[in-house]
Amino acid sequence: MSARILIVEDEEPLTMLLRYNLESEGYEVHTAARGDEADTLIREARPDLIVLDWMLPGLSGIELCRRLRARPETMQLPIIMLTARGEESERIRGLSTGADDYIVKPFSVPELLARVRALLRRSSPERVSNLLSAGDIELDREKKRVSRNGKPVDLGPTEFRLLEFLMERPGRVFSREQLLDGVWGSEIYIDERTVDVHVGRLRKALNHGHAADPIRTVRGAGYALDDRFGKIEKSA
Ligand code: CA
Repeated sequence: MSARILIVEDEEPLTMLLRYNLESEGYEVHTAARGDEADTLIREARPDLIVLDWMLPGLSGIELCRRLRARPETMQLPIIMLTARGEESERIRGLSTGADDYIVKPFSVPELLARVRALLRRSSPERVSNLLSAGDIELDREKKRVSRNGKPVDLGPTEFRLLEFLMERPGRVFSREQLLDGVWGSEIYIDERTVDVHVGRLRKALNHGHAADPIRTVRGAGYALDDRFGKIEKSA
């Protein structure tokens, strides 16, 4: 059973972006654009984690957080607070908000996903999958290990993240730009050719002694992990 995540955010483009990425990771995602609406949703069905914006119409994120902490059934509910850079984030540091973690906007999506995973691992370990597999390739997110056909594959940290990203979304074609955003984060400036270099290294390490190349180059488009190669399976 996948973890239920509630996104409480009134900026629709950000909600869409987060929903898309969290669903790609296999979570069940619900959204609310107002604080009071979120409060009602949480009373109806308790999520496993909340991504909560600080500034919201209806009821502020901080007030909602206080209310949740005051109720026994949501006292321990994991909350990641989103704050804007500047005054709010300065204030939140000095305040006991009750949130488990907070992240300052603008943030990179991989960073938020990592925080979500880390929090869920602590609160509901049975709901988080550490193991990804595709064909004869296995990737353990927690132990940072990769094997192919049972034999360990030695990867650098960037190649590991790149493979993890591709294995989470098998069959989907990603442009170099999308891979840069997803693997390196959008705040860092890196030449798109860097992607080719790391894909080359990943291929070399993965395919050593193996006939089939699981990474497909799509001319003029980008790269994909071949889904004919194997269906994704997630387990705890
Ligand atoms: Ca807001």
